[in-house]
Amino acid sequence: MGAKVNRQWRLVARPVGLIKESDFGWYEQPIPTLDEGKILIRNIYLSLDPASRNWAREVKSYFPPVAIGDVMLGRTIGVVAQSRHANFKEEDIVLGMLGWQEYSLTDGTGLSQLPKDSSLPLTAYLGLLGNIGPTAYFGLLDIGKPEAGETLVVSAAAGAVGSLVGQIGKIKGCRVVGIAGTEEKCHWITEDLGFDAAINYKTERVHERLITHCPDGIDVYFDNVGGEILDTVLTLINGKARIVICGLISQYNAVKPVHGPFNFIRILAQRARVEGFLVLDYENRFQEAYVDLERWHAEKKIKYRVDLVDGLENAPRAINKLFDGSNKGKLIIKVSEEPSF
Ligand code: NDP
Repeated sequence: MGAKVNRQWRLVARPVGLIKESDFGWYEQPIPTLDEGKILIRNIYLSLDPASRNWAREVKSYFPPVAIGDVMLGRTIGVVAQSRHANFKEEDIVLGMLGWQEYSLTDGTGLSQLPKDSSLPLTAYLGLLGNIGPTAYFGLLDIGKPEAGETLVVSAAAGAVGSLVGQIGKIKGCRVVGIAGTEEKCHWITEDLGFDAAINYKTERVHERLITHCPDGIDVYFDNVGGEILDTVLTLINGKARIVICGLISQYNAVKPVHGPFNFIRILAQRARVEGFLVLDYENRFQEAYVDLERWHAEKKIKYRVDLVDGLENAPRAINKLFDGSNKGKLIIKVSEEPSF
């Protein structure tokens, strides 16, 4: 192991609005020596997620907030560089929450081993076969409960979660309409992924386009964004519609309280069900999702794309791609090179 320092991003200020680079401090720390029972991981990939913005906030969530001065939280894939731990050996590939840093010293808690012989690239384990695949799978199938012939609408439809939701909806026989923020994304989901229609919410009138593309109304809405789009979709829901609240990215950077949906009366009138959903609740069932997702991917029924940004030093700038919509697929930082086996 050649490196003598560990470079890391620590949270130094609570972000207000969009994350700024100055909310983080770049630290170089000596790599500590390894005690018995410990492992040193060289991180290879770091997942950047919309939720990262919430972890930097001082609010109670499903994770405790990152404390000021702590290494920023993030899901990672790494290789064991040194081990004095019975269950891990050098060159093992591991998945964990080891944060925005090049090296992590750990006792192995919460780490899982990844296969070295997978037909999919390692980055898939932060997306399709990480948390993202199960989010789309259980959120849609368990909460949305789509039936063949129903109309499914999904927002952030070209994103990591949304693009899978739409494709699973097609596999289940739904009419699928995606809402996304660029022409390129709308083209990708309709031409490459098989969505029935796409609406560019930045250039088109969403309400009018939904009326056109959902002639039989909306049975399932998979919501990744909240806000105005949620409000608009509510006007067109059918009786007994299911609304999956997966994410509310339009308000993650809000600096003042956001008004709730105005059209909530539609929930009452249509006897609809609105249900919040956290993928972490399904952790003991992830394998079920992976079996289907891997098979569908091998059968070319689902595709995904990865937006790989080179260099840990770029993490604070890159994360805003999720909020300005410039990410094309699962946003991942390449921290260091993959080992060759
Ligand atoms: P994406 O890859 O979808 O990236 C985020 C996308 O959101 C952007 O590309 C952008 O696309 C869109 N977006 C950003 N700001 C707005 C806005 N103001 N209005 C409308 N769209 C916006 O990220 P993920 O797939 O990782 O996450 C998608 C959602 O799923 C997030 O809300 C996230 O919090 C949630 N999530 C929830 C989980 C759970 O367990 N409940 C687990 C994982 C993710 P565009 O160009 O279309 O604007």
